[in-house]
Amino acid sequence: MSAMNRQTMGSSMTSEFVSVEAARQMLLDVTPLMEVESVGLFDALGRVLAQDAVSDIDVSPFDNSAMDGFAVKASDIANASPENPVDLAVVAHIAAGDYCESKVQDGEIMRIMTGAPTPAGAESVVKVEDTSLIAGDGGVGSTIRFTKPIPLGANIRLRGEEVAAGETVLYAGTPLTPASIGLLAATGHPSVPVYQRPRVAVVSTGNELVDASVVPTKGQIRNSNAYSIGAQVIASGAIPVEYPCIADTYEATKETLERAAIECDFVITSGGVSVGDFDYVKPVLEEIGTLHYCNVNMRPGKPQTMGVIGDTPFFGLPGNPTSTYVGFEVFVRPALRKMQGYTELIRPVTHATLIHDAKKHQDRRYFLRGIVSRSDEGGYECAVKGNQSSALLKSVHDSNCLIVLPEGLSPVSAGTVVECIRLDMDEGTVS
Ligand code: AMP
Ligand code: MG
Repeated sequence: MSAMNRQTMGSSMTSEFVSVEAARQMLLDVTPLMEVESVGLFDALGRVLAQDAVSDIDVSPFDNSAMDGFAVKASDIANASPENPVDLAVVAHIAAGDYCESKVQDGEIMRIMTGAPTPAGAESVVKVEDTSLIAGDGGVGSTIRFTKPIPLGANIRLRGEEVAAGETVLYAGTPLTPASIGLLAATGHPSVPVYQRPRVAVVSTGNELVDASVVPTKGQIRNSNAYSIGAQVIASGAIPVEYPCIADTYEATKETLERAAIECDFVITSGGVSVGDFDYVKPVLEEIGTLHYCNVNMRPGKPQTMGVIGDTPFFGLPGNPTSTYVGFEVFVRPALRKMQGYTELIRPVTHATLIHDAKKHQDRRYFLRGIVSRSDEGGYECAVKGNQSSALLKSVHDSNCLIVLPEGLSPVSAGTVVECIRLDMDEGTVS
């Protein structure tokens, strides 16, 4: 079948534009949650806990000292003052990791270190800085002077203060931070159930492409998309699976996409989704899967070919590097996050004052590459950064946000407050 004939196949949807929100929702609707796997704590960092984590013990497991100092009976120093000091004898020395079997008796004190179990009879711990040494080296047999009273329970951390045995310490759905990892270790979870990272096929299409390691000859360009997409996949928490670059033929496209959909959890292509004579992604998807849409009301990145092959979500990104980048950010990244159990799917948005006029030539939503920063007035301001050609990736590199100009043809004048999608902030953080 000729290239031109392929173009006419299933063309009923080619001219229909879907909105950015509808396009994202259609992709999310076909995006499954990954299965659960058990991983060690370091591997769990940043991932989403799949089951409630219950503590096997009280944390801390025993009452313990919050200070280096002396375990006392508070009643012994209730009347202590500089004029009426109380001198008491040290009868034991308890370090962290020790366990003292004997009880503090009236008129006795025990030297105790931070984290050591407080002995029976101890009512409070007086920190060493609030005492003075009268005789000895501070250890057993020494005499210590107290010049002020201490409240009952002062400087004693109670057993189970963090969490009690049997209590849920972290709930399913929690993205795990370094602090979560510490809590899981303290509560008896050397490994935890988390959602698997999706394996994402990255398929580049184009006769013109050569690898980054090759110096291109006539008509060739380096395949930068395979790397930028792969890096975006990693930044989304997923695992890129690079496929050999495919030639612009129907057969090669079909064979690779069929295989990728079986071998991976999500399939991404770059290039070959427009109306060029050798753009085969859409007709192949219509034959081997289901096409949901192929034009989104946005710029850059109008042609975005989304659907499923079997149960595997498929997303065809455009070939121009910035269109690819923006399409991934706006659609694919939220889907990959959903698969991994995150509920926060959208990057934070900062409302900022545009500091220059911006023209609109098309009635689409624009995602301009720009810089958002604090203004002298204490709010936020933003400006477009660099050449906005969709073929040039440098403007993305130099930016920290996507400045959103709404649909319509009206120019946006300086002073208008616009939305800036924060590429420099993770989903769920406050902008
Ligand atoms: P296409 O959508 O295939 O017509 O590609 C649109 C533009 O993007 C063309 O200039 C391609 O050469 C370029 N392009 C396509 N794929 C890649 C890629 N993997 N890396 C860099 N540029 C690409
Ligand atoms: Mg191409």
